[in-house]
Amino acid sequence: TTTLRLILGDQLNPLHSWFGEVRAEVVYILMEVRQETDYVRHHAQKIIAIFAAMRALARRLEHDGHRVHYLRIDDPANLQAIPANIDALLAHYGATGFQYQEPDEYRLDRQLAAYAAQLALPGSMAGSEHFLTTRDEAERIFAGRPQWLMEYFYRQMRLVHGVLVEPGGKPAGGQWNFDHDNRKPWRGTPPEPFDTRAQHDHAALWAGIEAAGVASFGRPDAARIVWPQDRAEALTHLDAFIEHGLPHFGHYQDAMHTTATRLFHSMLSFALNTKMLHPREVIAEAEDAWRAGHAPLHAVEGFIRQILGWREYVRGVYWASMPGYEQHNVFGHDTPLPSWFWDGKTKMRCLRHAIGQSLDDAHAHHIQRLMIIGNFSLLAGLDPHALHQWYLGVYVDAFEWVEMPNTIGMSQFADGGLLATKPYVSSAAYIDRMSDYCKGCHYDKKARLGETACPFNALYWDFFERNADRLSGNQRLGMVYRNLFNMDQDARAACAGQAASVRLRLEQL
Ligand code: FAD
Ligand code: SF4
Repeated sequence: TTTLRLILGDQLNPLHSWFGEVRAEVVYILMEVRQETDYVRHHAQKIIAIFAAMRALARRLEHDGHRVHYLRIDDPANLQAIPANIDALLAHYGATGFQYQEPDEYRLDRQLAAYAAQLALPGSMAGSEHFLTTRDEAERIFAGRPQWLMEYFYRQMRLVHGVLVEPGGKPAGGQWNFDHDNRKPWRGTPPEPFDTRAQHDHAALWAGIEAAGVASFGRPDAARIVWPQDRAEALTHLDAFIEHGLPHFGHYQDAMHTTATRLFHSMLSFALNTKMLHPREVIAEAEDAWRAGHAPLHAVEGFIRQILGWREYVRGVYWASMPGYEQHNVFGHDTPLPSWFWDGKTKMRCLRHAIGQSLDDAHAHHIQRLMIIGNFSLLAGLDPHALHQWYLGVYVDAFEWVEMPNTIGMSQFADGGLLATKPYVSSAAYIDRMSDYCKGCHYDKKARLGETACPFNALYWDFFERNADRLSGNQRLGMVYRNLFNMDQDARAACAGQAASVRLRLEQL
């Protein structure tokens, strides 16, 4: 009797209980398939990094004595779809059982459930042993509430998991949230930590991907891939972040700069989302750093909130909202993405940098994703579904369960405010305060009207004008609407005219 166990490309945790003992009757199967490279167009580095890490796990399992069947993208025996490949392998091994781990993506979850259900032999799903919450935990916590406040969920998680809490259930430092300490711009000091990540030459792998005809975009940089390919590398990188990045993570969490693309961010999302690292160990290392006096509480709390709070929370939103979450579009936005999303060629310096960096590195940090690219997209009325596909393709850490709620919900407010308490939009003033982008930009950050006025400015006021019915009652937007309603009618009409002309020239901006 032989059992096949499927390992998906984001299930690369060598500590999973499956691998606890070597069993001669079990064959682990991993496959690089067009089904997974082609559901959206992906950044070249994302495809390379995932395949490289899959190959590394397969080598490790074989080294440990497990039986492994690996299908490369350019293997003539590869049928390029998961069900077809499993069918062929079940027949090849004369298998009597099939198992897979709980997928994180709705699409794959449905596909594998349907596949297992129609098999004549026993098929079953195992847990992925990765998250701190179950798929439906957020839904249970928020049962009956119209809005799902992350902060509420996060405090529950702190208590349930005993993270940064003192005896008696009080938050460490007397506060649950230190966000107000975490909004400094960065002006060159402290220096950005040195990037210690190992580089790998995956030119041969990239040649195989290209030969297989996979379409992609972005800079492949195949000879210098920096994304970790195994758990050991991910752990080394985690240690380096805790040592050099974490102490400053808090203050500069929202900062952006043309000369420092990662600032004090961890760059751990790829290792976490492919499950090389467990969120619990990342959170524990960060908390230990605070308890040892190595990093201040506001930085550690801010970092932990992203993982224990946001990451688990968006997953809960995703499972509660699927299928159909990707169709939300409360503002009815339908403008296609301008072509500069694929080459970064725009005169807007903030977008040139944020998109350019995304295309070069398959990564941009949170505020670039939210307050530059997402901000502009919402103000300009870009189609949220097309934008979701772009985000899902471009970032090395993009998997639908985390990308979709962040794009459709947090960034585009397309779900009408289930997840975000207000739309995350700004004019040039915020971008100028938090970055050095506006200095040297073709556009005038102060001007609202005219050819060279910063496009964000008129679009910003026009967005609130156009959506006053829906948004003016939102308490968090009281100040914005007071300012808008205090403007004289001519100024408001001029803003609307300017915004309309900006929307007509998106391609040329
Ligand atoms: P750090 O800033 O160091 O944060 C630490 C960790 O916290 C991250 O590695 C990540 O695991 C977690 N985290 C932080 N913010 C979030 C968040 N909002 N939601 C969930 N987890 C979070 N993150 C992804 O992992 N995949 C995506 O596809 C993705 N798409 C996004 C799309 C948009 C429009 C926005 C606004 C955000 C998106 N994020 C996504 C969240 C966040 O931007 C990235 O997790 C982060 O930039 C990754 O870089 P880092 O590891 O250096 O993060
Ligand atoms: Fe961006 Fe406007 Fe600043 Fe230019 S002036 S960098 S377009 S916010």
